[in-house]
Amino acid sequence: MAKNGSTLFKGEEKGFDKRYFSDPEDLPGLAHFCEHMLFLGTEPFPEENSFDTYLTANSGFSNAFTEAEDTCFFFSCGTSALRGALERFGAFFRAPLFTESATEREVNAINSEHLKNVPNDVFRLGQVLNSRANPAHPYHRFGTGNIKTLLEDTAAKGINLRAELLAYYQRFYRAPLMTLCIIGKEPLSELHSYAERFFGEIPGDSGAVEPESKYWKDPLFLPAAFDKGVEVVPISDALSLQVGFPISFRQSSHVVAEQEPPAAPPADGAGPRVLLKLVEFGESALLGWDDPAMRQGMTLASWRWYNPSSHVGAVLGHEGAQSLTALLRERGWITALETGSADNTSTFAMMLVGMELTAEGFKKQDEILKILFGYLNFLRQLPEFPKESLVENLRLSECGWITREEPGPQDAAVELSGAMQDWAFPRDYVAGNTRLRDGPGLKGTVEALLANLQPSNALVTVVSRSCKGPETEKWYGTRYGFRDLQSLKQQWQSAKVAPGLGVPPPNPFLPRQLELKAPRQQPDGLSKAFEGPRLRQEDDWKAYFRQDTEYGVPKAFVFVELPTAILCCDGKNAVAARIYEAMCLGALQEKLLYDAQVAGLAFNFSVSTRGVQLFFGGFDDRLADFASQAMDAVLSFEPNRAPGGFEVQKDKLRRELESFASQPPISQAAYWAGLALVMPEFSLEELQRSAKEIRLSDVVQFASKLWDSARGELKTSLCWGNLRPAEGDMLVAKLRERLKSPGTTGEEAPQPRVAQLPVTPVGPGVALVHDVMDKLEENSAVEVLFQGGTTRGGDAAKLQRLAELQVLASVMSDQFYEQLRTREQLGYIVSCRADRNEGVFGIVFVVQGAAKSALEVLGRIDAFLDTVPGMLRAKTEAEITQLADSLAQARLARPQQLLSAAERCWGEIRSHEFRWTRPLDEALAIRQVRKTQVVEAYDRLLASGGAERRRLCSLVVPSRAASAVAKELAKQGAEVIEDPQAFARSRPKWPLSNEKLASRAG
Ligand SMILES: [Zn+2]
Repeated sequence: MAKNGSTLFKGEEKGFDKRYFSDPEDLPGLAHFCEHMLFLGTEPFPEENSFDTYLTANSGFSNAFTEAEDTCFFFSCGTSALRGALERFGAFFRAPLFTESATEREVNAINSEHLKNVPNDVFRLGQVLNSRANPAHPYHRFGTGNIKTLLEDTAAKGINLRAELLAYYQRFYRAPLMTLCIIGKEPLSELHSYAERFFGEIPGDSGAVEPESKYWKDPLFLPAAFDKGVEVVPISDALSLQVGFPISFRQSSHVVAEQEPPAAPPADGAGPRVLLKLVEFGESALLGWDDPAMRQGMTLASWRWYNPSSHVGAVLGHEGAQSLTALLRERGWITALETGSADNTSTFAMMLVGMELTAEGFKKQDEILKILFGYLNFLRQLPEFPKESLVENLRLSECGWITREEPGPQDAAVELSGAMQDWAFPRDYVAGNTRLRDGPGLKGTVEALLANLQPSNALVTVVSRSCKGPETEKWYGTRYGFRDLQSLKQQWQSAKVAPGLGVPPPNPFLPRQLELKAPRQQPDGLSKAFEGPRLRQEDDWKAYFRQDTEYGVPKAFVFVELPTAILCCDGKNAVAARIYEAMCLGALQEKLLYDAQVAGLAFNFSVSTRGVQLFFGGFDDRLADFASQAMDAVLSFEPNRAPGGFEVQKDKLRRELESFASQPPISQAAYWAGLALVMPEFSLEELQRSAKEIRLSDVVQFASKLWDSARGELKTSLCWGNLRPAEGDMLVAKLRERLKSPGTTGEEAPQPRVAQLPVTPVGPGVALVHDVMDKLEENSAVEVLFQGGTTRGGDAAKLQRLAELQVLASVMSDQFYEQLRTREQLGYIVSCRADRNEGVFGIVFVVQGAAKSALEVLGRIDAFLDTVPGMLRAKTEAEITQLADSLAQARLARPQQLLSAAERCWGEIRSHEFRWTRPLDEALAIRQVRKTQVVEAYDRLLASGGAERRRLCSLVVPSRAASAVAKELAKQGAEVIEDPQAFARSRPKWPLSNEKLASRAG
């Protein structure tokens, strides 16, 4: 159980009559509301957010989420703080305060969360699907809640919200429904004693928990729901087709019983009462599977044990030769197809087939559905489900399982506590659903799933702005309409398989061996752990290499950068690059990339203002072969040989750019700030214009210039992983061979530049004010950024300044959240954090909400900033030191996975900073920070009158109020920027590590 530096805990509770599924019918959102309320004070720790304050002081973090059937609470913190954190956390589950005042205020946080979701198509489409479900089934409900469900409706009906909250809590927050996972470096016996001490008092079963949910008996969808297709009008310019197949589990084999936990309880009988709710499960449950009658339905046990959706998905979602995807792409009707299961609950799941359509595909949607059902009919009519495919999936799953890297402690705890709810025996907790299982029932289960994928059981949804929307969904206001599909469904029932479709051929990239080339060993000492890669330079190529001995997985990763200024400041080339990338990767997908990807090999390439980036990675066994093949395929790809692809990708890009308008206001605020600060950067408008005008000949011309210009300069690569030095050299030699050029100029990649904000000792500073792009959006967003300095060219003084700023951000962050979110309820997204952008560091405050206008929010941020000196005065030197220590400790945590370690190193190479020991250096600097320095950093950088106060605020406002807001800000002394890019051009830039590397954009 011992992990790296941090510790984590997650508690989760779950019953039959489940979380938001267990909301009272007249109180949607109660389970979610209860989740929020637990953070707002407990008897032993009555202060609101005291848990988060404690965690922040110990480089920790906490969060929670409520799904259909469970609410999950989790946190992580520095190792030394585990006991204190568990003490505070445990009180959530036995002694929450639920004060009147917090109950009233927190409804606003729920409402802000809902308003944040309103313009989001994922929530909108999900709720349209829910609205089609049987009104008697909880799947029909609205789980988030808002001010109407929690406050207005309860008031109108005379329901006391707080009383309902208490009743809900008392009924469901009970030990038998909860699972607990603690990951810490302490000995198991000690962790066990924490569990006993801090969770042992949680009430047990009072007998109030119903043995069986009442919705077992209610059908998920009524028969009429299947007769009609639904046409939804999205916010974004999406074009898609989705077919959902509800899979209801047969009840009879869903044996749920309270049992002894598999591990013997402690001898003294005083064990924690957080027991497992055991679901009877295991081989024995599956013995009946050869009985054909059993195939008439799916059981929860077989669904979980055999994971049939991943097997059916592997065939249905295959993208290689003879696949559905390849055929539909070839016809120019779709750009992507995905399959998988969703909404996995204990009584049902949904099997989904989702397609991204082209404009042509939208017109051919009935034809596409006929082909889909024809293919499903074909699979059903095979004498048996393709055995080779099952075997291959099992083998690949096993490869993935054997070489699985440990997830971070936080992810591990979230995963494990969830798996403890789903699986009866500890041996299955870790494998959960990630490891596919073989067994006598596999084939039957897969066939049982296939039997469900019929037109008569299909919920068809098409999404397009061109749909008419006579109906309005109740909670999100989504416009949608119905279309009768009964007679079409009749035809699809007997649809024939389209010519060219078949079962997937064998995968040529299956790894043959997974062997470690060097024994795994823990690095001895920190400086060893942060050792940099070896460099070997030949005239046109700088090759960095490191053989992994730390992570012990049979994988390797290769990054290559070919500098070219071809994109420079030309929006048209940027658009040509995007279309070229998409056309090329699309063309390679069927022949090469899909199989490779399934077999654990990844390839990507992209063109940015710096040049061409290539990435190869995965199991090292076939990596060199694969890299050569992928490189050959890219270099021989000719855009004019795939003319259909051009129109499809052009239209897709146009719609993607269009869809930026539906990004949350906070992302829009960051976009405008980015335009004003980073060069070169393309504006949305520029890209949209170019995307409209571009022709195939532009892409052809771009592609021919791209590789010539990219070959001509100094190439850089990093090869990191399970490779011997000679193998690494060989791999690079193969790439070099393919990318060689007769003469090179020896130029390195151009670097983006960050504009230096002017010093404005008082007032709002530089201001960007924009209307929110999406008219439906009610939230406004405010981002306030203070630039602090740069670490580029990194001497000790620069690192020290960065360290001071990080400690300052950490001191402010939970206070900021507590004040603006918990007390003032200004919005759901409220945060203050240290910021880093191309080596330039600073502090950023963001608030997104609808409760107050953007100007008022800005005023509240300023009011908060004025309280910081007092807050700092109240901190003791020891408190600052503790905070700094915990920040430093977090900084020293090793990346959990090989790829992250490699990426970090590649970042140092790309920025030309080469500070391999950065975490160590920064941690040392952070440890040296004293209170006087934090106060001084605040006075200098953030305070009114600060000698180096460089401040930018970016406001995004609803209701077309931007010009009025801009005027008001100008009155307050702001420098309001009309043209962010012109501003970026006009400003001096922060220095780079090496001035020669300045972007050729200027
Ligand atoms: Zn929430």
